[in-house]
Amino acid sequence: MSNLSFNDQQKAQELLEAIQFFSHKGWSPATSTNYSIRLETPGKILISRSGVDKSRFLKTDLIVINEQGEVDPVSAGAGIKSSAETEIHTALYQRFPKINCVLHTHSVLGTWLSQKYVKSWEIKFQDWEIQKGLSGIQTHLSSVVLPIVNNHQVMSDILAEMEPNWERQPHGFLIAGHGLYTWGETVAEAKRHIETFEFLFELKRLGE
Ligand SMILES: [Zn+2]
Repeated sequence: MSNLSFNDQQKAQELLEAIQFFSHKGWSPATSTNYSIRLETPGKILISRSGVDKSRFLKTDLIVINEQGEVDPVSAGAGIKSSAETEIHTALYQRFPKINCVLHTHSVLGTWLSQKYVKSWEIKFQDWEIQKGLSGIQTHLSSVVLPIVNNHQVMSDILAEMEPNWERQPHGFLIAGHGLYTWGETVAEAKRHIETFEFLFELKRLGE
C-alpha cells in the first residue's frame, strides 16, 4: 500500500472504514461481498481480495488490479486473487468514466427482496425523503427504480442482463437471491447509496 499516492492512501482508508461499517451492519456475511476504488494511476483499481472475513478485513487485503482484472505485480503473492466478481467492477468503471468507487453488499433484506421482485425485474420506491440520498434525486416525489437481474456464476451473463437497464440511469442494481451493486464518484457517495437502498429495503419490507 505504501506505493500508493497520498490521495489514494486516503481513499483506501475511507474504503476500509466503509467495509468495516458494512460488516458491522451485517451486510457482508461469510466472506461475501467486494469493494473497489479507481486509483489515480490510469487503468489501476484497488479491490478487496477474495475470501477474507470482512469483520477482520485489513488495508493490506486491498489489492491492485488492472482494467482486465489481473492482479498487479505489486500485489501478487501466494493465494492472493481478486474476487470472481471483479469483472462487474471493471465493467462499471469502463461504462462510467466519472465513478471512482464500486460497492457490493449481501444484506438479508436486499437478498430477500431481490427474489420477491425478480419477476417484475425491478423494485420501485416513491414518496420517501431518504430517496434524496441518491445522487441527482431532488425530491421524495420522484420515483426510484432499482433493476433486478438474474444471478449467474458467469459475470458476463449478469452484465448482459443489465444491458437494457442502463438507459434508465439506475443508481445500482440487485442480482436476484444474491446482493446489491452501487457506485459513486467518491467512496462517500457510493456508501451513501448503499445506506439509502438499505433504508428503502427496510421500508419496503414494512409495507409487505
Ligand atoms: Zn456477491
